[in-house]
Amino acid sequence: MAEKIYCEICPRHCGLEAGQTGFCKARKNTGDRIEPVNYGRCTSASLDPIEKKPLARFYPGSRILSVGSFGCNLVCPFCQNYQISMAGDDMRTAMMPPELLAEKAAEYADRLPDPQGGDGHYSNLGVAFTYNEPLVGYEYVRDTAKLVHERGLLNVVVTNGLISREPLSELLPLIDAMNIDLKGIHSDYYDWVSGGLTGALDVVMDNIRIAHEAGCHVEITTLIVPGKNDSLEDMSVEAEWLASLSPDIPLHISRFFPRYNFTEAEPTSVKRIYELCDIAARFLRHVYPGNC
Ligand code: SF4
Repeated sequence: MAEKIYCEICPRHCGLEAGQTGFCKARKNTGDRIEPVNYGRCTSASLDPIEKKPLARFYPGSRILSVGSFGCNLVCPFCQNYQISMAGDDMRTAMMPPELLAEKAAEYADRLPDPQGGDGHYSNLGVAFTYNEPLVGYEYVRDTAKLVHERGLLNVVVTNGLISREPLSELLPLIDAMNIDLKGIHSDYYDWVSGGLTGALDVVMDNIRIAHEAGCHVEITTLIVPGKNDSLEDMSVEAEWLASLSPDIPLHISRFFPRYNFTEAEPTSVKRIYELCDIAARFLRHVYPGNC
């Protein structure tokens, strides 16, 4: 039997024989090592407002060159981006090597005066790695982020937070801001979105704490799925835990819309989102409704 190589990027630790691809569909045993098959392969690119990441308190009014590839290490039945997150190697992509992306980011970057007479904002802050789960393509984020920093620009990662300690620690000095999903506050809920991976909630909570303590600007998003993670009690527990790290951590509480394999629920009611925001605001200073 061929010897397996184990991927160390996330807690799934996929053991892959030569030619096999991991759970995330983005990493493969190519013979003597595991390589990201999505390296430099872009499925989407856009110069987005920073608020769309969402980041509400990181250079507001600025834009950021946002790119995505394919693959994800979770399997949320309600994934809002499933066309790329659930795709694999056969996905149609355009090549965007790190040098080209960093160059493009620099091309678009200009500091603009603030019409209100404040500090101003940027036509492009740098690069946001987003849309699919960027950290399953860890090497691309690392290599590009170094080049972006060399040009005096900033890096943003929008992630589900399910990454192993070592790659996260290596990446953090290169990342200026993160939006991390905290999908719910119960391990049962993480069992559902991970397809039964043990301990995912603890890993995500640990990584939020580590990123915050490392001085990275961290904002959190929780997508509220009716009947699954919409209880007021759970939001109280979540917000209280975040406040134990810092009451200044911004929390985005977002509406769900039926998608992918979970279409039986109605979109989250706007009323419920505002009720949850009110609960969270008892503990946190910056709470934002999303998709309302
Ligand atoms: S990053 Fe992908 S291949 Fe690596 S352990 Fe996680 S799911 Fe498996």
